[in-house]
Amino acid sequence: MSALPVPADATLPATTAQLFIDNEAVPAQTGQTLPVVDPSTGTVFGQIARGQRDDVDRAVRSARRAFDGPWGRTDAAQRGRLLLKLAQLVEREREPLARIESRDTGKPLRQARADATALARYFEFYGGAADKLHGQTLPYQEGYTVMTLREPHGVTGHIVPWNYPMQIFGRSVGASLAAGNACVVKPAEDACLSLLRIGELAAEAGLPPGTLNIVPGLGAEAGQALAEHPGVDHLSFTGSTDTGRRVAQAAAAHFCPVTLELGGKSPQLVFADADLQAAMPVLVNAIIQNAGQTCSAGSRILVERSIYDATVAQLAERFAALRAGPASADLDLGPLVTRKQQQRVWDFLSDAQASDLRFAAQGQIVDHAPSEGFYQAPVLLADVPIEHRLSQHEIFGPVLIVTPFDDEAQALAFANGTDYGLVAGVWTQDGARQMRIARRLQSGQVFINNYGAGGGVELPFGGVKHSGYGREKGFEALYAFTSLKTVAIRHG
Ligand code: NDP
Repeated sequence: MSALPVPADATLPATTAQLFIDNEAVPAQTGQTLPVVDPSTGTVFGQIARGQRDDVDRAVRSARRAFDGPWGRTDAAQRGRLLLKLAQLVEREREPLARIESRDTGKPLRQARADATALARYFEFYGGAADKLHGQTLPYQEGYTVMTLREPHGVTGHIVPWNYPMQIFGRSVGASLAAGNACVVKPAEDACLSLLRIGELAAEAGLPPGTLNIVPGLGAEAGQALAEHPGVDHLSFTGSTDTGRRVAQAAAAHFCPVTLELGGKSPQLVFADADLQAAMPVLVNAIIQNAGQTCSAGSRILVERSIYDATVAQLAERFAALRAGPASADLDLGPLVTRKQQQRVWDFLSDAQASDLRFAAQGQIVDHAPSEGFYQAPVLLADVPIEHRLSQHEIFGPVLIVTPFDDEAQALAFANGTDYGLVAGVWTQDGARQMRIARRLQSGQVFINNYGAGGGVELPFGGVKHSGYGREKGFEALYAFTSLKTVAIRHG
């Protein structure tokens, strides 16, 4: 039975998307549902099952059965083949998946297509890596042979946010399955339709029942229940610092290891010798992509004072030309995901007005954008002091902050001067400075003369400080999804 009818044109009928447990679409045990809202129009276009504690428990038990049974007995090469098959199925379904994601989250179609492509690439990367993950033999005393074994944890929980459902699902579930775990996923209630469809594709690829279970529902209900569940052996969480703290506390009660990816206030440092022509489109895209709702958004630009005015003028020219509109119109940016997120951005902008910050430029919302959609035109704020709330906190909207600096030491102090440390960009031609700064930045990733490297499935990703801990993506992520066992044999 299909969890969700998937027409190619994304005009989804008003229907109820069910939970996906044991390779089957099932209703929530309470029978309750939640509305699915189209951010481009503000209208309800479907319902999803409202998973709660009992449903999460059912999903965890299903995953445990798979891990103790057929999935746990599947060897690494076969796990890899199944993930590669899943990658092919995602490729086959790229367009309908992109259309679902675009309607559900409000992101422009081309972004949703890029997300579907990245999802396939995650399954491809981790499918290829599954049989290359191994332990070591260690030199030890005469008469011993000592080895390490990398073993799956068992059942892993994945709490996925609404901003990049497919990509964030792919990076964490792909790595976990490759390592041999069975998964229970709690998507954001505001963006779960694409993931329910991927559950069906995983079943079609041949993953045994229970290997991948998906339980949409409210964070405070299904999410909290997953974090607290004693049958979960590892948790991956992506979202806000406050919820991340709550999830880590709940997991600590049963000594469950956690990977936390908690967003940032990522700076881009622009020095006077930078190639501004190359930098400019990257600086703009790093904040308007996904309407600024990106954990690694380049949301602050720090510019050396001698080129500050010229840089702000160039940014302003580009910002004034940006257009926001319905997801299907595929403009520079779509709406924000929810009314709540729109209100959050408005609150920050009211604060900017109250503080007399300089609105250097603003893009437009196109005339045909429905008035009930959750739109926000991109905003460029100049001369923002480093200690201001807008320089310190993640806005998660299309709002770019620009601040001047006088020298390298001050640039570094400003860059490191927030609680976050996820990503940083540096624009300079000076090789020695590139290395100095890369080493001194408190950040999980540093990009020199580029930003984001096109997503980088292969590149380990995660933060320091309040941006979280642990690494997703790349080969590194596989280690988090295994536990290391040391075996010492005394043979004389
Ligand atoms: P949350 O951190 O609350 O939500 C992220 C995920 O956690 C969602 O799946 C959510 O479910 C779930 N969740 C919520 N409460 C709990 C809980 N008590 N236990 C377990 N899981 C829970 O973020 P918001 O959606 O409220 O967004 C607020 C801000 O968080 C944004 O403005 C942004 O700054 C930041 N954020 C950062 C992201 C990133 O990529 N690093 C992604 C999303 C948000 P549900 O949505 O169904 O409630």
